[in-house]
Amino acid sequence: MSVMDQIDIRYERDELTGLLSMDGIIQFVQSRGEDTYDSYSMVYMSIPTFKKLNLGYGYECGNRFLISTAEGIKRFFPDAYAARESSHHFTFFIPDTNVNRIKEELGKLQDYIRTIPRGDRMRLKAGIAQGESPSDVFVLLDNARKACSHAERHRASFQEYNDQIEREVEFQRYLLRNFDTACERGDLQPFYQPEIRVLSRECCGYEALARWVDPKYGVISPGIFIPLFEQELLIHRLDLHIIQMVCRDLRTAIDSEQQVVPVSINLSRVDFRMLDMVREIENCREEYDIPRHLLHIEITESAVAEDDEMMAGIIDRFRELGYQIWMDDFGSGYSSLNNLQMFHFDVLKIDISFLRHLTENPRTGAILASVINMAKRLGMETLAEGVETQEQYQFLLEVGCEKLQGFLFGRPMRLMRSHGKAAFRKEDAPALVLETLSKGKYYSRIGRVNLLSATPTDDELLQVKNRLPITVIETTDSGEIHFLYANEAYLHFLHNVQIENMMAANGRANEQNLAENTAFLRFARRAEASGRVHGELLINGILFTNDIMFIAREKDHAAFLVIVRILAHEGEIQRQGIELAEQYVLSSFFRVDLFEEDGTATNLYLDADQAKLTDLDRNSIRLVRQYAERYIAPEESESFCEFYDMETIHERVKKNGGHHVKKFFHSAIPGQEGRLESYTIMPFRVSHHWKYLSCCQYAELPPREMLEEIVRKMPAEQNQS
Ligand code: C2E
Ligand code: MG
Ligand code: MG
Repeated sequence: MSVMDQIDIRYERDELTGLLSMDGIIQFVQSRGEDTYDSYSMVYMSIPTFKKLNLGYGYECGNRFLISTAEGIKRFFPDAYAARESSHHFTFFIPDTNVNRIKEELGKLQDYIRTIPRGDRMRLKAGIAQGESPSDVFVLLDNARKACSHAERHRASFQEYNDQIEREVEFQRYLLRNFDTACERGDLQPFYQPEIRVLSRECCGYEALARWVDPKYGVISPGIFIPLFEQELLIHRLDLHIIQMVCRDLRTAIDSEQQVVPVSINLSRVDFRMLDMVREIENCREEYDIPRHLLHIEITESAVAEDDEMMAGIIDRFRELGYQIWMDDFGSGYSSLNNLQMFHFDVLKIDISFLRHLTENPRTGAILASVINMAKRLGMETLAEGVETQEQYQFLLEVGCEKLQGFLFGRPMRLMRSHGKAAFRKEDAPALVLETLSKGKYYSRIGRVNLLSATPTDDELLQVKNRLPITVIETTDSGEIHFLYANEAYLHFLHNVQIENMMAANGRANEQNLAENTAFLRFARRAEASGRVHGELLINGILFTNDIMFIAREKDHAAFLVIVRILAHEGEIQRQGIELAEQYVLSSFFRVDLFEEDGTATNLYLDADQAKLTDLDRNSIRLVRQYAERYIAPEESESFCEFYDMETIHERVKKNGGHHVKKFFHSAIPGQEGRLESYTIMPFRVSHHWKYLSCCQYAELPPREMLEEIVRKMPAEQNQS
């Protein structure tokens, strides 16, 4: 039973919920007199997401929700005198000052609200203020409101009022009072943070980030004023002001014949409620005569989630006009994947929280890699936010992320303005080279090559990298060769041909008169003419095939995707023992198993879409039979089993006069064309025991579809050639 049910009827009620009205509760509290309570708490509660429910499901549904919420308040705060202020704002007066207990009960109320029909996404925000005497009621109500609005801005749920909040409120009043002056004086201005092309480390753009450079308080960051301006519906004015300054800076730079790169600007979801942002940006752009490709529009994923239909219309209009639309803070909210289904973005900016967790949580790497992989499949680029270390950079390079932004390459900084010029090149970051427009196009074509797409469907959850050795090589018309990218499997491969690392590879690639370099340049020329060639190369006595595909050309530079497979290596395997052998075969076989003397087998490596089988039954005879049944052409099945008969293997190896036996079989996998595969068994001895390494290899290069999947969406010119 709630005290609410005992209140005198002369106090005004809220018709919908039966709680008190605001006037009602104030009269009621004041009428209780000074000594009724020693001390008490005032709670101000808001449900900001309620508007969505009202809009989405209608007033009828909204009303039912509010009535149930009022019931919840009575249930969890039976001692409270409660009122509805307006729409989704409630106030209650409780003869209790235990803040923790109140927060606990608010938590229960939140859980209850989630169970109300359509309440699953409703979030409570509440402020709590405490007082001694009921005559403070107005002050307390005000304080509870301030605490609630603090909670709303800081993504907290419940907040008690304190001095810190009072100072903050004072500071906010200062900001609101001085907003116009700050715009006029240019205290509110964009700082620019470089966006870096991962492959070239050149600066391919800037993000404009608002800063308030105040004569009294110094540099104030947007984390403080943006939520305030959103709440006070001033944000569109700030955004238009920043856009205007960005256009002006670009115009000044263009007029003084300096090189410029595109600038991305941040829009708030509230902007779109306030005015026609597309029209406003167009007007501003026209005023300064800035080409559209120099402005990129960043919209946060929460903005998109808020009102899908309106956003869909706006995004379409921007894109039709030729602006790039970037999704900011991807992965920070719950609706990320949903948004990708509905809208097309040019770039996904991956939220800073991913990189923060990269070192501690091994799953983060896998998630990042698959986000990048997915973005490429959807024809989008990725930009990682918050790159602070070399290790993070290296990881992003390996998984094929195209762009990044972070303190490693530069903090947001003021533009250098002097003598009427605005320089986008920073004095303290002289190493930063600005990317030209044509280079930007060239690199984004390279970026479209999906280096992860052939990730084996092995059941290892955290497998993030491709096991095919892949590299992207750039050549120049004067005969230079430069490795832009190499995945881990390619580094293994380099090791196998006795090249220590990428630096050594780059050094060797530019040695004069090396036959392999001349041959590679020849292949590259042919690949550019025909789209793609296969060629064999010999390095340090090891023969391997190269599948070389042309990606893009910019002036005298051309880029190629290269996949290698080692052809000759058996002798090596004999010498090096099992561990190194394992490394070797990673780059050239689709399946490797180890058979033991005791009649068991273990799968060491699996690169194809086959089942492991060894995890079901390790008996080697049954394994071979099962394998043959599933994957080998029926007419060859018998001879396949005989080939794997370890009783006779030593005899056959001896007869062969070498260290191994090898035989070709045809595959028969439902839904696939049969192909020729080679099977090799190599016996070797480890501490008096015989072991048999079985390696399965495609007798031809991997099927075309598999390679084609890697080169997704090749540029149009190339498809025609
Ligand atoms: P955002 O658009 O996601 O911007 C990236 C934020 O990450 C920036 O914070 C930037 O300074 C910070 N950052 C960049 N690199 C690193 C790094 O390596 N490490 C760390 N720890 N942080 C890094 P900032 O400038 O404080 O901006 C915060 C947010 O305020 C922005 O997030 C954006 O959503 C919003 N914002 C900024 N300027 C504007 C504006 O003009 N209009 C609107 N509507 N929002 C803006
Ligand atoms: Mg942004
Ligand atoms: Mg962001």
